[in-house]
Amino acid sequence: MRKAIFAAFFISAACAAPSAGTSANAYHLIPGSVPMDKGPDGNSIFLDAPEGLIVIDTGRHPAHGEKLLVYASERGKPIAAIVNTHWHLDHTTGNYDIRQVYPQVRVYATDAIEGALAGFLNRNREQADKMLADPKTPDARKAEILRARSVIDNPDRLRPTISVTSSGPMRIAGRRLEVHVAPFAATEADLWIYDPKARLAIVGDLVVDIVPFMDTACADGWKQALKDVAATPFVTLIPGHGASMDRSAFLQWKSAFENFVDCGRSERAKEECVAGWKRDAAPFIDAAHAGYVEEAAAYYIDTRLRSSPEGQQKYCRPLRA
Ligand SMILES: [Zn+2]
Repeated sequence: MRKAIFAAFFISAACAAPSAGTSANAYHLIPGSVPMDKGPDGNSIFLDAPEGLIVIDTGRHPAHGEKLLVYASERGKPIAAIVNTHWHLDHTTGNYDIRQVYPQVRVYATDAIEGALAGFLNRNREQADKMLADPKTPDARKAEILRARSVIDNPDRLRPTISVTSSGPMRIAGRRLEVHVAPFAATEADLWIYDPKARLAIVGDLVVDIVPFMDTACADGWKQALKDVAATPFVTLIPGHGASMDRSAFLQWKSAFENFVDCGRSERAKEECVAGWKRDAAPFIDAAHAGYVEEAAAYYIDTRLRSSPEGQQKYCRPLRA
């Protein structure tokens, strides 16, 4: 059961601030959340562009998708482009909700979803069927599982229409953005955005306030990606889950991540590594999530950082072999 919760973005499985930033109206944030009893929604971020609105990540649950559509309708502008930072279902399931209302929308993402579909995402369907057949599964949970299964069965609802394969400047819906592809980080390929005008970095799950979601992580690639983020002169950073950060908050989170990975790979007691994370990342962990964080951190040490040598490298190479 615990596994089902932390494997958040498969079938089953923080709290943020509203609009604004360093430059006025640089972005509009629709915060996601990390509930204890169901899968999370990632943050969604709107940017204005000459051809309409750009939305970065689309959440998982119907209520989140609805918020995105309501915002666009209030603004009286079409959603012209979706950018997915990574394929996890708490960031991409809402793509289909948006495409039904805005069929012309272009979807920018890496092709990393293909590796996931080729393997574990489809295998995960069996687990979904078991949970659906189990009378103990609550109805709300069943609805979530059915929604996840429908996108896995119809992967064009998730896939990009424009594949992003390398880093560089891109014009998206007429707006120039720096797009970065981080290979083998939180997923096989994570996409993050830097807007030099607003000095704004939008980094997806390379930063998750309460605990890094390491289910499909390659720890070394992830460390490198955080170094690359730090090398941009951003003033405001929006994580995949949680409130926006200034540079010093990000640097604190980055060093907490590095310490956690190093401890997890060392001979030190697991409890010590979990306590270290909770101490180093304390400003980012709210009281309601303290227990969740403890269990999740221990789970990632067991399953990622302290698994077999092959297990540790599992996500450090292409999944489509
Ligand atoms: Zn996420």
